[in-house]
Amino acid sequence: QIGSQVVDQKVDSVCPFCGVGCLLTYNVKDNHIVSVDGRDGPANHSRLCVKGRFGFDYIHNPQRLTVPLIRKASVPKDPDALNALNINASDWSQVFREATWVEALDLAAFQLKHVRDTHGKKALAGFGSAKGSNEEAYLFQKLVRTGFGSNNVDHCTRLCHASSVAGLLEGVGSGSVTNQVNDVEHSDFIFVIGSNPTSNHPVAATWMKNAAKRGAKIVVADPRGTDLGKHAWRTLHFKADTDVAMLNAMLHVIIEEGLVDEAFIRDRANNYDALKANVKNFSPEAMAPICGIDAHTLRDVARAYATAKSAMILWGMGVSQHVHGTDNVRCLIALSSITGQVGKPGSGLHPLRGQNNVQGASDAGLIPMMFPNYQRVINADAHAWFEKFWDTPLDDKPGYTVVEIMGKILADETDPHKIRGMYIMGENPAMSDPNLNHARHALASLEHLVVQDIFMTETAWLADVVLPATAWPEKTGTVSNTDRMVQLGLQAIDPPGDARADLWIIQQIAQRMGLSWHYAGEHHGVAEVYDEMRQAMHAAIGGITWERLQRESSVTYPCHSEDDPGEPTVFKHHFATDDGRVHLVPAGLISANEQPDAQYPFVLITGRQLEHWHTGSMTRRAAVLDAIEPTATASMCSADLQALGVQAGDVMTVASRRGQVSLRVRLDEGTPQGAVFIPFAYQEAAANLLTNPALDPFGKIPELKYCAVSVTAGGQL
Ligand code: SF4
Repeated sequence: QIGSQVVDQKVDSVCPFCGVGCLLTYNVKDNHIVSVDGRDGPANHSRLCVKGRFGFDYIHNPQRLTVPLIRKASVPKDPDALNALNINASDWSQVFREATWVEALDLAAFQLKHVRDTHGKKALAGFGSAKGSNEEAYLFQKLVRTGFGSNNVDHCTRLCHASSVAGLLEGVGSGSVTNQVNDVEHSDFIFVIGSNPTSNHPVAATWMKNAAKRGAKIVVADPRGTDLGKHAWRTLHFKADTDVAMLNAMLHVIIEEGLVDEAFIRDRANNYDALKANVKNFSPEAMAPICGIDAHTLRDVARAYATAKSAMILWGMGVSQHVHGTDNVRCLIALSSITGQVGKPGSGLHPLRGQNNVQGASDAGLIPMMFPNYQRVINADAHAWFEKFWDTPLDDKPGYTVVEIMGKILADETDPHKIRGMYIMGENPAMSDPNLNHARHALASLEHLVVQDIFMTETAWLADVVLPATAWPEKTGTVSNTDRMVQLGLQAIDPPGDARADLWIIQQIAQRMGLSWHYAGEHHGVAEVYDEMRQAMHAAIGGITWERLQRESSVTYPCHSEDDPGEPTVFKHHFATDDGRVHLVPAGLISANEQPDAQYPFVLITGRQLEHWHTGSMTRRAAVLDAIEPTATASMCSADLQALGVQAGDVMTVASRRGQVSLRVRLDEGTPQGAVFIPFAYQEAAANLLTNPALDPFGKIPELKYCAVSVTAGGQL
């Protein structure tokens, strides 16, 4: 019984929002979720934030897609032409007609096959989802690799932590975290950089605040003021885009003052001399005017980090979403390695993963350069192993990434790698990609676009075929959180109307494209798919069987046998690199791709907020969350508002070289002078119309955290 309400059943699952991966229980009555309770999971110990506790009713929203849709031939796809028709986006009957599943699947697969057979295997691409299960991610990438015939498969990791993964793979040989978040309870020093965990990983932030109460020193480094800063020993509001200057100055102090762990460097690190020579010129005194943090504070923080008994570094997209994102991560790896602050409890590196399953989707191979478990497609042994495992010839060249795919869609007709057909499952690039006008134009230019989703997203609006899918509480499957925990969620309710399970839809497309897949068992063979994935990822999850997950709900990897509890802290004795040693990589100063100038004098910082999740397709349809934050707002400090002659609540227009949005402004003294912060969840003022698609050369992540904009009073809402 919940309050005065008697429930039919209580079903155990996992929160579908952020990478913390809080375990929860759905209270179900009459096929409706009526409330959510936190469960005693290893990442949350019964805690939930506002999204997890109150954000569940998006699944019952009347805008759910409940029947397959096929675009009417008479309706233009071009976004400008479509806008000119003034069609209300919630009335999709003017754009699509309803279809049977057989008709929609036949058309979707026939046209994809037609593109492949006419233009070659490189002409197709697929975006899978970090919101789906591991099993869906695994099957989706297998479909693209074995059915489409190329490695053109990616997902939103490319937009959040691709540079973190690139830096970590290069440095320590593994793209995941070395220590779990709640290991901060063993830390004396916690360095949080480019992350706003009270908004974006709220339950994780509670462990950090507990540590501060216990006496741990927290340092929050971020150009913006964050709530966690109130609990910090020092806050470093460094100038946006100067991470490398600040971090190299800390490295300089540690080396100059002899605070390094010489035994650790001797026994476990490569390339220290090059790092040492590089940071020689980065004294705090020289870097202070560049990064905006005084030399005394830089020295204090560096000393405290190096001399702490145990120190953790946690970071978010403020670090990764830059053209120098990989360099930022290289500096963090160097900090932890030259001080020996890695490979022991309370000491390590933790990129806070964003989506609930971005870790798992990446692990499962939903990335263009890696097979499952980060085995490179160019590695001859890995390539041969997967060819044998899947009994199919495979492409041995890396595929294109998210932003590259948009460029390849608009490539010249003569380009042999021009992309002409796509299958997008549960992602919304028409809201999440940088430079949206370009991305939307690209998606609309495809010969054939199949979108599988639970709502008519901005991407589905441009599709030829829309396949109505299931939300997380409507399915059984596993997800992997930021802590490397594989966690099982059970189906709580039936999907609405004729919406179908994603795992079923992927298999239907695969069979129609000529693949003889037959996964048997409950929930469309989910346990059988998991078991196949486990074989492909044996080194990581070999000891995590489906039956074990049914018993335990959550198991940490690496896990080698059924009686192995898993390893919460890795690299205790050696790293996952070929020689077992950390590879230190010196980083120089690289400026943002686009700097403020007379025409565009402000810096745009994009990000998330507590109540709304990513492109807003779920949380903006959750009644409580949307009631708390119903409208798009930009944040600026009082000095800038005054100079612009604008008051809090007024409408203003923010423009970049790529587009413009009008929205209300909110006073926020935490936003640095000369900058404007806009969350990217609001389609009516889509921040990504403004952002710059310039890429980090290693992680291929766009510079979503920094571009030049103008801000003017007034505008049309
Ligand atoms: Fe869900 Fe993340 Fe909130 Fe936990 S912290 S309840 S996983 S959104």
